[in-house]
Amino acid sequence: MHEMPHESPYPLVSIDEAQHLILSHAAPLEIEEVDALTADGRVLAETIRSPEAVPDSPRAAMDGYALRAADGLAERRVVAELTAGVTPNLVIGPGMAARIMTGAPMPAGADAMIPVELTEERDGVLRVQRAVRPGDYVHTAGQDIERGAVVLEQGTLLGPPEVGLLAALGLTRARVYRRPRVAVLSTGDEIVEPGTPRPAGGVRDSNRYALLAAVREAGCTARSLGIARDDLATQREAVLRGLEQADMLITSGGASMGTRDLIKTVLAEIGTIHFGRVAFKPGKPTTFATAGDKLIFGLPGYPVSSLVSFEVFVRPALRTLQGDTRPMRPRVRVTLAAPVHPAPDRPEYQRIMVRRAGGRLIATTTGAQGSSRLLSLRGANGLLIVPPGDHEYPAGAELEAMLTGPLYDN
Ligand code: AMP
Ligand code: MG
Repeated sequence: MHEMPHESPYPLVSIDEAQHLILSHAAPLEIEEVDALTADGRVLAETIRSPEAVPDSPRAAMDGYALRAADGLAERRVVAELTAGVTPNLVIGPGMAARIMTGAPMPAGADAMIPVELTEERDGVLRVQRAVRPGDYVHTAGQDIERGAVVLEQGTLLGPPEVGLLAALGLTRARVYRRPRVAVLSTGDEIVEPGTPRPAGGVRDSNRYALLAAVREAGCTARSLGIARDDLATQREAVLRGLEQADMLITSGGASMGTRDLIKTVLAEIGTIHFGRVAFKPGKPTTFATAGDKLIFGLPGYPVSSLVSFEVFVRPALRTLQGDTRPMRPRVRVTLAAPVHPAPDRPEYQRIMVRRAGGRLIATTTGAQGSSRLLSLRGANGLLIVPPGDHEYPAGAELEAMLTGPLYDN
């Protein structure tokens, strides 16, 4: 039997140093061309200028009559009916008007239109309730988008409006960054597959499934590597398999100081460890390594530690790999609903629910903050960043928080 070491050989780095080290090893993956119309969730790798003016010619903005403003309140003769999608081949001369439907191209000679609500038509004669000015109710060419204007910048995260824009401009292909492939491995002799009988002392593998879901939420393709026993050869083989299949490998468990905590040994053999301990709660043993251009995270085994470490360290790397120029979660100032006790020695990321009330963002705890208590993450939409110290922060105090989900509206 080996003795347990009493001190980790890995220096304790700060959260900032750790994030900096990680991001200095993360760069966007290759660019690929994809179907633009289903590219939501991807990050654009090119800047897009509009190939045409939108609309391409003046259009009626409402249902009504196309006419000449200079005719004032005089009666007009209705000479045609113009509908959307039809190119008019007539000229509206003085004293003339044409019925026109929303979106239909304006006929030559007409410089304005009047909505049907402000008119009366009888026997082909139009009366208007008020005079219009040139340009009234006309959607001019290029009013929405000018030809050649930048509509989407490189680095834009594509969502519903961006897909709509690409469709509107007839751009059916887009150049985007490839989605990272991420492999997730659990370690531990006690860890069992959730669908199988659990022996006494066995622990169901929640980390792998939670992390696979977190990887997908971060916009990546997730791949499970199963569970590796606490044995060097087994873990080495699993890590190598993961590195073959993926751009990033995430492991959980076996990262601290026990005699069966082997992952740092394996990672040091296979790649370079950039840090092996972070002054951070929950998740001090969080380890970051690289092997070639692949990134490896050795996350702690406790379910809360692994997911919170994922949020703070892994997710920004995954967003960066897919080209996101804003990889960090937004930060806000929150007001504490109840007193908060800091950890004495390191910053703690406590799980909270953030809601808007009376013009403020109020943080309520999710309850006991133990590293094994997954329930402390349920419903949490934020991580409260509690600086270390011996004094509690009273109710009403303000602290920084990372928003991990949408705000609660009460
Ligand atoms: P370790 O860091 O390997 O000593 O693990 C710390 C604690 O986390 C132990 O109680 C483990 O049983 C638990 N744990 C480790 N891996 C997992 C996992 N994949 N799912 C759930 N709990 C785990
Ligand atoms: Mg273990």
